Amino acid sequence: MVSYKDLGLVNTREMFKKAINGGYAIPAFNFNNMEQLQAIIKASAETKSPVILQVSKGARNYANQTLLRYMAQGAVEYAKELGWENPQICLHLDHGDSFELCKSCVDFGFSSVMIDASSLPYEENIALTKKVVEYAHQFDVTVEAELGVLAGVEDEVASEVSHYTKPEEVVDFATRTGCDSLAISIGTSHGAYKFTPEQCTRDPKTGRLVPPPLAFDVLDAVMEQLPGFPIVLHGSSSVPQEYVDMINQYGGKLPDAVGIPEEQLRKAAKSAVCKINIDSDSRLAFTAAVRKVFWEKPAEFDPRKYCGPARDLMTELYKHKIINVLGSDGKA
Ligand SMILES: [Zn+2]
Repeated sequence: MVSYKDLGLVNTREMFKKAINGGYAIPAFNFNNMEQLQAIIKASAETKSPVILQVSKGARNYANQTLLRYMAQGAVEYAKELGWENPQICLHLDHGDSFELCKSCVDFGFSSVMIDASSLPYEENIALTKKVVEYAHQFDVTVEAELGVLAGVEDEVASEVSHYTKPEEVVDFATRTGCDSLAISIGTSHGAYKFTPEQCTRDPKTGRLVPPPLAFDVLDAVMEQLPGFPIVLHGSSSVPQEYVDMINQYGGKLPDAVGIPEEQLRKAAKSAVCKINIDSDSRLAFTAAVRKVFWEKPAEFDPRKYCGPARDLMTELYKHKIINVLGSDGKA
């Protein structure tokens, strides 16, 4: 049993409270390798932004849970080395799908876990979420739950259609489970293909897809039911066209990839939405930078020569999100 406090990490309670009161959102960036982690910490330290490091079940299998935990601990020390005196870094399990997985993460030094039982019937979602909350709270680990279903694929979580969260359920759910934050479905989705071309309109000038707007009426209704309660948005990458273009220019093939426009996320960040999950954008930046090097220098075989530029591009992306989308700079 390792306490996250010994690793220098923090849970989400204080950061969410401040974010709701301050009208901004905390970035939750997924990571599964060193370059991603370096980029996240550098961007957060340089902007003094609280940050949530997210590990999915898939990332945990990919990178090894022990290694990931020490990487998170190392991240805290690295942040201090970069001159961030009091780093506000949370290590969070993204989409935990069982009590055992959540317990294992709590025991392994995570400061926050998500139990995603949103695909189960309502009462079963409550029962499983409550069980995780009861365990995690003994160690002051915060718990994110989910109501409603997002479309798209994220590791083992997949659904073809989304079902918006029902605002009439949220009070009962939050009260009975005791969860600390709630992920809701208002039209965001996982991956780099958030909408089919049929769901979008086309910009007549650029020919690019324009996605349908998020269901802010659902968000407003949830906030009315649960005033001041921390709300989470998953699947909130914007799929920047510049990265998609770079990937396609340098031999990739990502036709019609489309994400959530940043102005909609900016609007959400000012509300009770206090955690915004971004994963695909970092994957796109990484891939775009690596492809560019491979295309331009086919003889290159030193991984530092292509992972380095990828790291730089991700750092730029994270800073942009922190400063221009979430507004969390200078808050830690
Ligand atoms: Zn998610």
